[in-house]
Amino acid sequence: MPNRPYIVGNWKMNGVRATLPEARAIDRAAARYPDVSVGIAPPFTLVSSLTDELSHADVGAQDCHAEARGAHTGDIAAAMLADAGADFVIVGHSERRSDHGETDAQVKAKAEAAMAAGLGVIICVGETLEQRDAGQAEAVVSAQVDASLPDAGLAAESAQGRVNVAYEPVWAIGTGRVPSTGDVEAMHAAIRARLVAALGEAGKKVRILYGGSVNAGNAAELLAVPGVGGALVGGASLTAEGFVPIIAAASRNDD
Ligand code: PEP
Repeated sequence: MPNRPYIVGNWKMNGVRATLPEARAIDRAAARYPDVSVGIAPPFTLVSSLTDELSHADVGAQDCHAEARGAHTGDIAAAMLADAGADFVIVGHSERRSDHGETDAQVKAKAEAAMAAGLGVIICVGETLEQRDAGQAEAVVSAQVDASLPDAGLAAESAQGRVNVAYEPVWAIGTGRVPSTGDVEAMHAAIRARLVAALGEAGKKVRILYGGSVNAGNAAELLAVPGVGGALVGGASLTAEGFVPIIAAASRNDD
């Protein structure tokens, strides 16, 4: 069901086999909230274990290479992730863009590779604090959306819940700072406009997640913002104690 809210944990470079009980507990929670789609993106080393162990939550990776195979030491192809049982890939996270110099063109190529391998994608975009302070936030994010999206044909074919955009202001990631709900709403509307311009009707089906310091205390308010279709969660997704209340906040059955 593409219009269910999507709550995705990005474990970044955290998690070892001893962390698997947390993933199992999150998976049990996903079963309790069937009106919410839940995903976990562990490091590559745990993708296979999680796909073996989880029955309700999607399992994703945090990156993939744009090529299907070849001489790319240390990289992982999308088809390898699909072979390991992954459901989706996060591409273009700001930490990939800053740590590895990833460009929009590379993010687009990775998204296309992931979709060609049958995986869903979460394409991350977001402005820096300097860009926001300079009044450039919407222009920067709109340009990222335009240049990072898979080609229209591919997306139109696959927009039924497999293409997601995550708006993650860089200055909100891991900082405890979040934009005002008004700013979140305005940016999600701007992203939607770019999606519809690029993809037509299919652009209306792409879920737009908010990410950046989402936690148990602010999730309900952020998820209630018009246009917010879920959350990409870093630090608070590492434990069931931190993540499950965010899943609950996305559910109509929260009590
Ligand atoms: C993220 O890394 O995608 C993220 C949103 O991190 P955090 O929730 O820790 O800000």
